[in-house]
Amino acid sequence: MKIAVAAPSITDFYFSPHRSAALGAAAVCRALELTGHEPVLFNFMNLKKRAGKVPLPAELSYLTDVITENEFGPTAFFTSYKRMGPEPALCAANIVSIKPDAVWISCFAFAYSDDAILLARAVRDLDSSIPITVGGGGPSALPSYFLNSNAVSTVCIGEVEPAVKDVENSPTGKWDSGSISYASEETMVFSPVVMPPYRSSVCVSLSLTRGCPKHCAFCSNFLTHGRKFRRTPLRKVREEINRISIDPTYSVHFAFEDDNILLDPDYFFTVLDIIQRKFPGFSYSAENGLDYLLLNEAVIDRLIQFGITQFNLSAGSMDSSTLNNQRRLHDFQHLQNILSYIHSKKVKIILYCICGLSEDTPNSVVDSLLELSTLPADVGISPFYAVPGLPGFESDEFFLSKPAYLCKGSSLFPWNGSLTTEQLMTAFRLARFINLMKHPERDQELLEICFHSRKIYTRVRVQGTAKGKTVPAEACDAAMVSRFFAGMHDS
Ligand code: SF4
Repeated sequence: MKIAVAAPSITDFYFSPHRSAALGAAAVCRALELTGHEPVLFNFMNLKKRAGKVPLPAELSYLTDVITENEFGPTAFFTSYKRMGPEPALCAANIVSIKPDAVWISCFAFAYSDDAILLARAVRDLDSSIPITVGGGGPSALPSYFLNSNAVSTVCIGEVEPAVKDVENSPTGKWDSGSISYASEETMVFSPVVMPPYRSSVCVSLSLTRGCPKHCAFCSNFLTHGRKFRRTPLRKVREEINRISIDPTYSVHFAFEDDNILLDPDYFFTVLDIIQRKFPGFSYSAENGLDYLLLNEAVIDRLIQFGITQFNLSAGSMDSSTLNNQRRLHDFQHLQNILSYIHSKKVKIILYCICGLSEDTPNSVVDSLLELSTLPADVGISPFYAVPGLPGFESDEFFLSKPAYLCKGSSLFPWNGSLTTEQLMTAFRLARFINLMKHPERDQELLEICFHSRKIYTRVRVQGTAKGKTVPAEACDAAMVSRFFAGMHDS
């Protein structure tokens, strides 16, 4: 069968470039090839160089109360909603033009379900006879969201490898995978994606492992990949790395998308060694973070020797009782030691924290941020977002009555009622302000204005000036900001 495999164009306030690798769609293509089908990949996220502005979706209109128009700079939130890639109708025309026997749409996260459904509907509008399957993290979380749309014939829940068998058995191309089954290490496809060159560098996006046995309540990884840690066999890794061909005048960066690769550090080091033999002098990053509990000085030394560019680590929260409730294993003393050691090696660290967990209060979030401000790391803040199936969010009812885009972190939706949208926004800005304190050269003037006024200011664009002008950021929670500056003053 000729099967069009599509990574839809997606909408959000921002995009991380690694996301556009569409690793999920690439894995589907490989799985189909291995079973004798003819996949044709459409990565629509990569089809347009710049993201185009689109109207804010209706059910995000509450954000207009907290957005500061035309702002930019180190304390800014996002100002405009964008589509990365062409409009769905154009994408659909591309797909239909190859006359596929079936279409597979990859939806890597539930929050982006609406973009996948829009593409499916646009394909249907052009040719209603083509069977359309949607797979990935989105449908694995809530298949009925897709099936109720009437744009999709079937959903693939869980991983693609077991579902491919259904394609083989069904001449109509209707892929049915009713219950979740996971690929074994031997059957797991491994399909690194070489991204288009950017300046003098080429990035290879890859994921070697699946599943994590830990039970952090805010993590939805298990919904698609289960809780058993599985690794791509080294033989397969060697084969695929050796197949990659990159012009030697480019520097090469490997971006690992694994969720918890340090569960087997020896395996990871062996893979890094394989890559080093083929691409001496390569650099790499762990885009989804490294589990700091699995780091020690020896492991850090080896990671640095192999060329890690920065350590992305997640604290989750700086409140121990919150982490206990969230079933997140933690050890703050170990975290401190690890941060100090990496800092002494002069490698950049970003420490991520979630705000809006059910146990959070505006005060506890500010206290966590004050704690983070003392650590030798930049702060990354992630507003909590629900995914159907997470503890406390098992009921489908709410998710079936609301658009899935509320589940994007950037939607600042008050899922737990512990922080309002305005307070989530305030936490986001305070985190950015902490980073400005750590890097005053980014905007010394703005830093001083904030400190002297004890308020969060931002910059807004003014025609004819590069620096714009400084204005108080809108919709900042006064009590949180005041507690923050009082805490800064005390320390
Ligand atoms: S350790 Fe990371 S991947 Fe594992 S459950 Fe927790 S958040 Fe998810």
